[in-house]
Amino acid sequence: MRCPRCLNEDPTYFYLGSKGWMCRRCVSFKRVLIMEEQVQIAPYELSVDCEEYTLDYPLTSLQKNVAERCAKMIFEQDVLIEAICGAGKTELVFPTIAKMLSLKKRVCFAISRRQVVLELQQRLAKTFTKAKVVKVCQGFTDDLFGDIVVCTTHQCYRYHQYFDCLILDESDAFPYKGNVVLAGIVRTSCKGHIVYLTATLDDYLKKRIKEKSIVHLQLNARPHGHDLPVPKKKVGLQFMLFYHLLRWIEMHREKPLLVFVPTIKMSQYLYYFLRLFYHCDHVNSKTRDLDTKILAFRNKKNNLLIATTILERGVTIENVNVCIFMANHPVFDEASLVQMSGRVGRTFKYPHGDCLFLCSAQSEEVDACIQKCQKANAHKMFVV
Ligand SMILES: [Zn+2]
Repeated sequence: MRCPRCLNEDPTYFYLGSKGWMCRRCVSFKRVLIMEEQVQIAPYELSVDCEEYTLDYPLTSLQKNVAERCAKMIFEQDVLIEAICGAGKTELVFPTIAKMLSLKKRVCFAISRRQVVLELQQRLAKTFTKAKVVKVCQGFTDDLFGDIVVCTTHQCYRYHQYFDCLILDESDAFPYKGNVVLAGIVRTSCKGHIVYLTATLDDYLKKRIKEKSIVHLQLNARPHGHDLPVPKKKVGLQFMLFYHLLRWIEMHREKPLLVFVPTIKMSQYLYYFLRLFYHCDHVNSKTRDLDTKILAFRNKKNNLLIATTILERGVTIENVNVCIFMANHPVFDEASLVQMSGRVGRTFKYPHGDCLFLCSAQSEEVDACIQKCQKANAHKMFVV
């Protein structure tokens, strides 16, 4: 027996209700009968000629190469685009989306985080001006259909076997990462092929590459063409780390400095310590006025911001330098270290910057992240 929605095959999750067999693994989404014919959603009439799109700046030749290959290969099998932070990975799927729309196919852009859904919907609406781009996430579930549906991975349960092409962004981010139920729901919402967009590979994608069941496109260059800043590492006793941190702040004092810490408690301690010497602030998942604080940092009202992993993704601060305090802490894995160090050198105006990992012990994850950056600089593009 197999759940038609989350693809569960583990018999311990199945139970016989009064109406028939049910799957307990994905029951929180909506009850689904195992033998039930899945109800087809009323088809949405796609807009005519909505495949045109406008870009803020033209794609680089490397971006173009990857983007065109994706648009071609997606008709044959799933595609994985592994691109470093700041490589402009969203733009890489625009030709794929345009091609799908020209063939009157239904496109979905699924993302882990709600905030990104809201931002991306606006961006796609500006890019594909003739298409109807809808956002579907918590707070926005009245209008479910459009030429392009931008939704959280969670909301894919509403579209059983509906999409012809699904683009899954940030498959390495919470809550999608490692969640088998979400993975099943996303898979079954699409009857065509999936494009995976990510900066780091999880075990599932590594397995798919090994099996050669996915096209693997790799882009290791940012549009400005400069190398990815490679993080430096210092290992020492904790009091020495404080010393290194203070030295690092002194060295880069003129620039916006972002210090990542593994826990909320540590963000508070470090804030109380550093505010004795500097004008600074701290943010974590419990910070209520997060946007205001980020804006203040962006507008250079505070040159020093202490943050937990809440800021590891999606934030671009011009000319920022990054230090990760206790980078060897188990809270940080390779993916989050890659994301945090990926905040540095993203803009055309400031393509360089400094990134420092302060560790109280050696860590495989830290070394893997540094090696990944070095390898990326050695091979800008890679196609399998
Ligand atoms: Zn299920």
